[in-house]
Amino acid sequence: MDALHTLSLKETLQALNDGQVSSLELTRAYLDRIEKLEPQLHTFITLTPELAISMAEAADEKRSQLKKNGASMPALLGLPMAIKDVLTVNGVRTTCGSRILENFVPPFNATAVQHLLDEGMVVLGKTNTDEFAMGSSTENSAYGVTHNPWNTECVPGGSSGGSAAAVAARLAPAALGTDTGGSVRQPASFCGVTGIKPTYGRVSRYGLIAYGSSLDSAGVLAHSAEDVEIIFRLMAGFDQRDSTSIDRPLEDAGCAKASDIKGLRVGVPREYFIEGIQPEVEARVREAIAVLKEQGAEIVEISLPHTEYALPVYYLIAPAEASANLARYDGVRFGLREENGGVIDMFSKSRGKGFGPEVKRRIMLGTYALSAGYYDAYYGQAQKVRTLIKADFDQAFERVDVVAAPIAPTTAFKIGGHGDDPLAMYLEDVFTLPANLAGVPGLAFPVGFDGQHLPVGMQLMGRPFQESTLFRMAHAYQLATDWHKQSPSL
Ligand code: GLN
Repeated sequence: MDALHTLSLKETLQALNDGQVSSLELTRAYLDRIEKLEPQLHTFITLTPELAISMAEAADEKRSQLKKNGASMPALLGLPMAIKDVLTVNGVRTTCGSRILENFVPPFNATAVQHLLDEGMVVLGKTNTDEFAMGSSTENSAYGVTHNPWNTECVPGGSSGGSAAAVAARLAPAALGTDTGGSVRQPASFCGVTGIKPTYGRVSRYGLIAYGSSLDSAGVLAHSAEDVEIIFRLMAGFDQRDSTSIDRPLEDAGCAKASDIKGLRVGVPREYFIEGIQPEVEARVREAIAVLKEQGAEIVEISLPHTEYALPVYYLIAPAEASANLARYDGVRFGLREENGGVIDMFSKSRGKGFGPEVKRRIMLGTYALSAGYYDAYYGQAQKVRTLIKADFDQAFERVDVVAAPIAPTTAFKIGGHGDDPLAMYLEDVFTLPANLAGVPGLAFPVGFDGQHLPVGMQLMGRPFQESTLFRMAHAYQLATDWHKQSPSL
């Protein structure tokens, strides 16, 4: 067999099912590769080798039992995966990239994680993230930066940078991420992998440690639309524990229908091809759109006129929600506790020591936007404009089936490249925020390289709950091209 880490997720499952490889062999192969490459990449905050080995042994044992009884196999039995350190795994430290949760061991699984565990997933560890998922480079992690496997002087994107880099470096066949304003799609783009941000409400947020509750969604990163769709379909579903979870059956798998995309209409929004975008990014995205056209898709120029407001709207709503969500870290119930004075002193010392500078900035921005006298002018106004952004998408989807656009204005930038300039960092998100504000799904996948051989990604955004159309188109693209098969030399 080829080196195990070079197999796609689908091939890996096939190899497990055919008995060509055991989960233990597979898991050991990944743990060895992690041990070798982790010093140069730092994709994990917490590795769980012992847990992984025992889960793999249990999976192998279960497989032989089920085989004996002729019973059907769980879909992922024995498949190792990595999980962003924002989703809880029972009994495994979950830090959110923050000192304030340095010693937090959750006593429950996130629902998305639980679904995959029920199917036999093996957990390799928890991947690096910007603190509380606030960032676009993974530089805001309290546990050090992750390096982009294509060029270790560059960031992997963020906030799911650890997951994206781990998949790109083939330290795991797939990894879970979260996307509040682009955190699955942008690192997928920077690292040359495929990743989905599902429709808001499609995948339970239970156990996804909250950042912006009206925007957060749990997603997955892997090497192809096919691989991502396998995991996405298992994670999705209604959950009573999440009040915004929606009870809506999945559509038929999209990749199975990829041989024919004739007549599907692809909208190209003119507001996403603006001055300031790196020319190679625009060129690669336009080439990818041309590939879809060659395969029979109809290309339609469209307008999403409120796009330019997405950035200010998001940077009011997300910090506002964050400031409320992060009020729970008070040193009393869980997390870091600093005390040597009264109660107020304990609150402020615990939070002062536990939170990093970006999180503090967001809490201050959000608290200001929500404060009496300013609420209507900032938060209220932002909510109204959010409705206009959503209406843009509703109107577009009357004419087209998907919207194709760049993910980020540039390819991966140098570590430290944005210095202490938060605005430069926020500008990275212009093209990803609208999908979160509108609640629509977005699928990112690689469409080539720039002159420095750094990956360029493209996103397809779709109607709510029509992830399958995104998978169908992306898989059609991946049948015709092989950007998704490229790997960095490490
Ligand atoms: N970069 C954006 C932010 O910092 C989005 C992050 C995310 O999607 N979690 O808020």
